[in-house]
Amino acid sequence: MSELPAMNEQLDRVEERGLAELREVKDEAGLQAWKAAHLGRSSPVMQVFSKLSQAPKEERPAIGQRANQVKLALESAFTMRSQILKEEALSQALQAERLDVTLPGRTLAPGRLHLETRTLREVYRLFGEMGFQVYRSPDVETDEFNFGLLNIPEYHPARDMWDTFHTTTPGVVLRTHTSPGQIRAMREFAPDPIRVILPGMCYRYEQVTVRADIQFYQVEVLAVGRHITFGDLKGTLTQFARRMYGVDVRLRLRPSYFPFTEPSAEMDVECFICGGKGCPVCKQSGWLEILGCGMIHPTVLQNGGYDPREFSGFAAGMGSGRIGMLRHRINDIRNLWTNDIRFLEQF
Ligand SMILES: [Zn+2]
Repeated sequence: MSELPAMNEQLDRVEERGLAELREVKDEAGLQAWKAAHLGRSSPVMQVFSKLSQAPKEERPAIGQRANQVKLALESAFTMRSQILKEEALSQALQAERLDVTLPGRTLAPGRLHLETRTLREVYRLFGEMGFQVYRSPDVETDEFNFGLLNIPEYHPARDMWDTFHTTTPGVVLRTHTSPGQIRAMREFAPDPIRVILPGMCYRYEQVTVRADIQFYQVEVLAVGRHITFGDLKGTLTQFARRMYGVDVRLRLRPSYFPFTEPSAEMDVECFICGGKGCPVCKQSGWLEILGCGMIHPTVLQNGGYDPREFSGFAAGMGSGRIGMLRHRINDIRNLWTNDIRFLEQF
């Protein structure tokens, strides 16, 4: 008995039902469920293929051909439907997420450089124009570089001038000043002449006040060569101070003492709050100290690798925080590093 008419009718229904159900599919999950039901291994059309061997031999080609047509029709309908659904999803997303270009934009708060960074860059620029290069040296130093080689031996009372942070490693300290960089620069460049500035953070174990913090930026100035005199020191530092504080500013050098310079001096500018008359800022003296300086001590030159009979040089050290304070009339140095945006925004 022929099974062909019954099989053809069955396959027509399979195709019809598959296409009808596909039209109802609304999303990707529905598509996948439909694919499993109508084209999967146990779907009706696939069942026809697997039972083909049970059909009468002469009818097998006709049944197989019709089953193949149904399978291809379902596959191409599936491809079309998924394309349509994809496009619908995309246009819906575009509709829902459309940008409203009429809304006002969100402004970004403009950042700026920290006051200290700007002061330092100004110092680099002024010294750079006089031929000084920036030289970096480590924040963590040995006792020998921080003190010993700078003519401050262990028993020397001058060590009391610097309250020191010691590390857990004996003989290793946080540098109390940028001066150890002098030795490092000299040892690197000797016997060539040197003109460098050494900027960096310094650390002192002392009470925090409006004028002193436990960490602060210092800039060291170092010049070594033949025939360098106190006149060069005075000329260079005066030029720097005039350009930093104004050409009309009055300056004075006052004798002082540092173990690593001889002779030593401190440079003051006339108080620009009171114009030299005396006020609380200048402690009624009319002058504000801006830096310490001096001719490099022969022992230090020697420790750096220079013969003091042939070479001479000068050095100076200044706190850049103090420079910024003086320029902007800031009365509390602690503000520089507490990161209060209301304070920092003013500069
Ligand atoms: Zn004053």
